[in-house]
Amino acid sequence: MKNLVEVKNLKKSYDLKEAVRGISFKIKDNEILGLLGPNGSGKTTTIGMMLGLLKPSNGEIIIDGKKIEDNRIEILKKINFISPYIELPKKLTVKQNLIVYGKLYSVPDIKKRIEYLSEKLRLEDLLNRITGELSSGQKNRVSLAKALINNPKVLLLDEPTASLDPEIADFVRTFLENYKKEKKISILLASHNMNEVTRLCKSILMMKDGIIIDSGSPEDLINKHGRQNLEEVFLKLSRNKNEFN
Ligand code: ADP
Ligand code: MG
Repeated sequence: MKNLVEVKNLKKSYDLKEAVRGISFKIKDNEILGLLGPNGSGKTTTIGMMLGLLKPSNGEIIIDGKKIEDNRIEILKKINFISPYIELPKKLTVKQNLIVYGKLYSVPDIKKRIEYLSEKLRLEDLLNRITGELSSGQKNRVSLAKALINNPKVLLLDEPTASLDPEIADFVRTFLENYKKEKKISILLASHNMNEVTRLCKSILMMKDGIIIDSGSPEDLINKHGRQNLEEVFLKLSRNKNEFN
């Protein structure tokens, strides 16, 4: 397995605030890396830099062997994302949205790609609906289809199941697991759902105040901190003010 993503000493300051203070990590192909951390720990900022939306104050992001800053267009074609901050255009139908994004990414056979994703994501009955009129669970599945429209090698997911009911959240997790297995892609999953992370991720980064304070598999972290589950590890690490600073 090779490292599809390599992040080296990444930093980001907003005016006076140092949101990300020097983090390094790798994501292999066919791996889902979990990104955990309390609100404000720098997860979304990290993802924003990996998407080329935010310019790092320092450090490097290498995707599929190439630095993002020197190869933006080539790299952006290979990645995609789900973000709670970016909504699909509300007035277009689902199909129109997927066509627009397919064209943005120059997807070769857009119709076939939409058919494939619609079948996998249970979108067939939604294709002609107005996107803004869908339920949040339906919108979420459409966002996932948009995120996969360009057959990305790297998928960045910022809290993808945050607003979903348990059944749809479970559907999305199962879908992601199977899709990753089939396509051997790399996924970065920022999440506050510990069961989700335990289930999907063999490897986890724990962020706090802009740095990585711990990492490892869910079992390693649970054993190391002498806790019963990842939720307890998370609480211990996020409450502890002094141990890591
Ligand atoms: P997370 O996704 O882990 O909740 P964020 O990356 O959103 O964390 O935020 C990290 C820190 O950076 C927070 O303290 C947040 O207030 C700050 N921050 C995020 N975006 C901006 C911005 N555009 N301008 C100033 N500060 C920001
Ligand atoms: Mg965030």
